[in-house]
Amino acid sequence: MIQIPVSEIIQKLVSESGLSESEIASKISKKMESLSGLISEEGAAHIVANEMNIKIFSSGSNVAKIGKIKEGMRNLEVSGRVKQIFPVKEFSSGARHGKVANLLLEDETGSIRVTVWNDMVSKLSDFSIGDVMQIKSSYVRLNNYGFKELHLNERSAIVKNPPGIEIGESKSNKKKISEIDGSESSVEIMAHVVNIFDPRFFEQCPECRKRVILENSGSFSCETHGEVSPIYSYVVNILLDDGTGTIRATFWKDQADSLFGNLDVVYENPQLFDTIKNDVLGTIINVSGMVKKNNLSGNLDLNVKKLSKDPQSNSGFLSSQKISESSEQSQEQMSEEEFVE
Ligand SMILES: [Zn+2]
Repeated sequence: MIQIPVSEIIQKLVSESGLSESEIASKISKKMESLSGLISEEGAAHIVANEMNIKIFSSGSNVAKIGKIKEGMRNLEVSGRVKQIFPVKEFSSGARHGKVANLLLEDETGSIRVTVWNDMVSKLSDFSIGDVMQIKSSYVRLNNYGFKELHLNERSAIVKNPPGIEIGESKSNKKKISEIDGSESSVEIMAHVVNIFDPRFFEQCPECRKRVILENSGSFSCETHGEVSPIYSYVVNILLDDGTGTIRATFWKDQADSLFGNLDVVYENPQLFDTIKNDVLGTIINVSGMVKKNNLSGNLDLNVKKLSKDPQSNSGFLSSQKISESSEQSQEQMSEEEFVE
């Protein structure tokens, strides 16, 4: 192992961290004390460097996944996908005025807010949601709410879609219903089924699955395939509540089938659905899908792509009192629903 004099390690720590020499020296001596003097000053300096994510042996920057970012890290290289861009804010206080921009960066381990000041703000202008952003030489600070933020200074660089950098999908899209704001491309929620609306049946072209039009003659026609003998499909709207709020979820045939079983029988005998739905009402389901704004109600709807019933971790998940409050209020909003995608 290469021997590095303690004084050099301390100099390195001072220049990388921005702390003073005496602050670094005090960290090192505290570390030695905490280990009851079983370790040399040099060894303690290495531990302190590790804890501050400062590499003694390389002059390069420290690369970190977002989920591993810690307060006080410096000279940090972080890559992530732009998830959200907030409007630029201008401010002035006394003689000082300037602007600040924030965005949310995400990788497969987590997400972090990025804060950019003044002249650096213009470097963000050619980024859109979904672009990969690589930030070199950034540092980490806690904001007023105690959350970590990535800050840039005049030495920082921002690279758009750098070659060779791939960002995995964020593993968790899990959210509380109240947290859903429509900015997410897909979301996963766990919620109680609090209301189930009657299935709507519609005729489809057997060839292309597009909806068909009922002609005056009583026959059905597809705009591509002309007169066809239609097949039936359906959609079921369900109100979900997780204690933080409610959302209307749309279950198209395949998803409805995995929740209720095949509903073809209900077409002929609508009253059969009462029994079928009673088995599902009140259960907890885990669903993921796309969030869309409903043009009629202005509310956000969930277009369900995947679901699982009876998820295991549902203890302490919501209070029944909250369910009745929030679902009653939403039922009225549902009366004029549209159901066509
Ligand atoms: Zn067709």
